[in-house]
Amino acid sequence: MSSIDSLAQLFMKFPGIGTRQAKRFVYFLLAQDPHFVDSLAREIAALKREIVQCEGCYRFYPRAGEGRLCSVCIDDADSATLMVVEKDTDFESVRRSGSYAGRYFILGGTIPVLERDPASKIRINELLARIEGDAADGLTEIILALSVNPEGDFTRDYVIKALKPIAEQLGITITTLGRGLSTGTELEYSDGDTLRHALKNRG
Ligand SMILES: [Zn+2]
Repeated sequence: MSSIDSLAQLFMKFPGIGTRQAKRFVYFLLAQDPHFVDSLAREIAALKREIVQCEGCYRFYPRAGEGRLCSVCIDDADSATLMVVEKDTDFESVRRSGSYAGRYFILGGTIPVLERDPASKIRINELLARIEGDAADGLTEIILALSVNPEGDFTRDYVIKALKPIAEQLGITITTLGRGLSTGTELEYSDGDTLRHALKNRG
């Protein structure tokens, strides 16, 4: 197999990338100057070395020292609320909006409707463990901030069902952002005002 084919096969593992697009990426690289290709290779090599996953919220963050928790989990964020989002880019949107001062948990995706093994698609067990730990820290509310679309709705229902027993036992309220967001809204693309409104009107 030539380098063209083997690199194209790697690109095909990217989300949403098919054979034709993968080949276009390879030919794009061939047309660039060596400096571009070198820095791309260098950045990819550095990624796994310099970025680590937080053991508290599961988001990716630049490694600093030997700690296993990111700055948001360590700093004095309001420990009474825990916001559950799908992915890192959603976390970034909420963070950028400046409308929320509590803690976070990255669920790691959504559950496709009709999925037979929902627990394999999201970090539900890790979330349950996190809630148990945070309860001792004064957690009183879990905010589910998932996208308003069929997969987001399905995931929300599944998570609520899974959290209900422990939430009731520990006296924790589960709220959702859905009401403030219109149908089809992806958290990632929501602006600061929309997020603030959705947070204020959560229920
Ligand atoms: Zn964290």
